[in-house]
Amino acid sequence: MTELIFELTSPGRKAYTLPDCDVDVDYDDKIKDFIDEEPVNLPEVSEQDLMRHYVELSTLNFHVDKGMYPLGSCTMKYNPKINEDIARLDGFSDIHPYSADEDIQGLLEMLFDFEKDLKILTGMDKFTFQPAAGAHGELTGIKIFRKYFDNKGEDRDKIIVPDSAHGTNPATASMGGFEVITIKSNDKGCVDLDALRDAMDETVAGLYLTNPNTLGIFEEDILEIAKIVHDEGGLLYYDGANLNATMGISRPGDMGFDIVHLNLHKTFSAPHGGGGPGSGPIGVKDFLTQYLPVPVVKKDDNGNKYKLDYSLENTIGKIHGFFGNVGVVVKAYAYTKLLGLKGLKKVSEMACLNANYLKDNLKKDYYLKFNRLCKHEFVLSGKNQKAENSVKTLDIAKRMLDFGVHPPTVYFPQIVDEALMIEPTETESKQSLDNFIRIMKKIASEAKNNPETVKKAPHTTPVKRLNEAKAMRNPDLKYENE
Ligand SMILES: *Cc1c(COP(=O)(O)O)cnc(C)c1O
Repeated sequence: MTELIFELTSPGRKAYTLPDCDVDVDYDDKIKDFIDEEPVNLPEVSEQDLMRHYVELSTLNFHVDKGMYPLGSCTMKYNPKINEDIARLDGFSDIHPYSADEDIQGLLEMLFDFEKDLKILTGMDKFTFQPAAGAHGELTGIKIFRKYFDNKGEDRDKIIVPDSAHGTNPATASMGGFEVITIKSNDKGCVDLDALRDAMDETVAGLYLTNPNTLGIFEEDILEIAKIVHDEGGLLYYDGANLNATMGISRPGDMGFDIVHLNLHKTFSAPHGGGGPGSGPIGVKDFLTQYLPVPVVKKDDNGNKYKLDYSLENTIGKIHGFFGNVGVVVKAYAYTKLLGLKGLKKVSEMACLNANYLKDNLKKDYYLKFNRLCKHEFVLSGKNQKAENSVKTLDIAKRMLDFGVHPPTVYFPQIVDEALMIEPTETESKQSLDNFIRIMKKIASEAKNNPETVKKAPHTTPVKRLNEAKAMRNPDLKYENE
């Protein structure tokens, strides 16, 4: 087990070098009232101890720079390092959020220009970058739903959410004070149109739809879905966190959707996970522009300067300070400019190709409930392994760690038993995909012939199987220095 940095301490060691003080002041006398009698307990280590310690720690954790990370729905693609360099440029990173508009023309131009790109990509009319994550974008959307119907004097208190939606969709609708009506998928893994027609009436504010859905399937009746909801006066919200499957190919705006969120920290290659900053901009159609959070970026009347506009008539207010998590936006902007529209289209094509390649190579080894062309991800099931050898999906996921692969999303979506939701992304090579197939086949064979090996996994990680329920309920994260 790796030692804590406190345990590496050797009194007097330090990781810095400072010149001798050449000012003749009796500091002790001047500041003695502020000095604690007891020195603060900080680790005393050399620079080399420090470097080795943190490099070692960085290799214990799994991350996308270390190995394949096919975590379904999370789009854990490789993040080009040049995006980091660009986000770190002084002109972006040193800006004070209260700067006057004329002093941050570059930043405003970037936001304005990126908005233009996102409009082209989605078919929407106006964007805000304030939401800090996908779920936050959804919340912004639900607040717009609420205010829009309040202004129209319509009392609509329900939101329809298909059972193949991402979990944040019903959670958001419920947080927005709406009753959630869940509708079932049909045997093709798509929205059941009759169920939608039955559920949709003038008491329903609209539909929250994840597309492609969490089965990795594109809703083939999307135009009919949109029509059913609009015909009853409802609004359409498109959860576009899975845009990695469709860039340059189809646009939520063209399908009739009124609001869409994107996950810049998935599709647009900004690092995420571990609760770090994200960005979930939302785009709306013209008739909802006045509801967006303020400020929005505008060009001034003669069209050569950028400025912040606070004057939106029906704004829902602010949902994040200033312009949102701008550092993340800069990374996504750099990525978009690097690839261009053609490049983004290729990203989506490769993401879908990679997912289908894995699916077709693994469907003999693991049960595949929806056996059809998928988009960026697909959902296998460990139910045969469980029935035949009592090897659970959790065991399979843990065993993957022994082979240096991050497990996929497990037990989600709930409409597939023992689900393994796999999203390879476009950044994995053919060799890497073949390696993944080999590992998955090996685990399937172990589950038959040597189930105990799988059930007791992982065997090679720094910590073995944790009591996850206990870790959730009684987290004890503090360092006690006795
Ligand atoms: C990730 C995801 C979300 C939520 O995004 P966060 O940034 O994690 O809040 C919503 N919907 C789908 C389909 C997602 O994949």
